[in-house]
Amino acid sequence: MRSIEDFNTVRALIAAGLNDCAIARQTGIPRRTVCGWRNNPSSITPRDSCSGHDYSLLPSDAYSYLLGMYLGDGYISRCRSVWRLRVTLDKKYPGIIESCCTAIDKIMLGQHAAVLPRKTGCVDVSLFSKHWPCLFPQHGAGPKHLRPIVLQPWQQAHVDAATEEFVRGLIHSDGCRVVANDRGVASVRYHFTNHSADIRKLFCAALDALGIPWTQNSRYMIAVYRKAATARLDEFVGPKA
Ligand SMILES: [Zn+2]
Repeated sequence: MRSIEDFNTVRALIAAGLNDCAIARQTGIPRRTVCGWRNNPSSITPRDSCSGHDYSLLPSDAYSYLLGMYLGDGYISRCRSVWRLRVTLDKKYPGIIESCCTAIDKIMLGQHAAVLPRKTGCVDVSLFSKHWPCLFPQHGAGPKHLRPIVLQPWQQAHVDAATEEFVRGLIHSDGCRVVANDRGVASVRYHFTNHSADIRKLFCAALDALGIPWTQNSRYMIAVYRKAATARLDEFVGPKA
């Protein structure tokens, strides 16, 4: 793939009135490539063409929800010159799959997330874009629990503006709502399990901001079990659909 510098040089020479052969001779870029750039400049998307984002324009609700999902079960991988976001979800919950697709479509306007079946009773919700590493700078090599996960200030601002959606995304990916039988009385509990201490900390900080008490049940699990607290979570999370 040619660089943005090559493209800009060719564009300048086209503007200066040189023909394709002359540009090819001068730059060493094949004449067919020069011809293609001349005829269809809008199709050119050289690598590293991202010119930055105004992150404050992202919809806080969709972004916070998808950030929660990404921190739970999301992966970003490189695929030639673009990136692929994949969120692996249980086939049993079409409502959650739908919520994930809607959030992606709201963030990547004009694109639509694909739902791809996997063998194991799961689906991958997936979309290709050059900008996933911009939108989720927590992307990095290796599993999330082996590297620090810290939010950028602009991400924290979205989480502060849509904290319930952030918690909903985290629970939809790595949490569950359990109805336990407590000596004949049904009681609701929420569990959130993640191997990353940083991600558990983000989950707990969001619960603190919402005034929802939590306890650390075991090494990797956070639990919410008080009646008023689970009732509050039921207002915006509820049973998995
Ligand atoms: Zn970008």
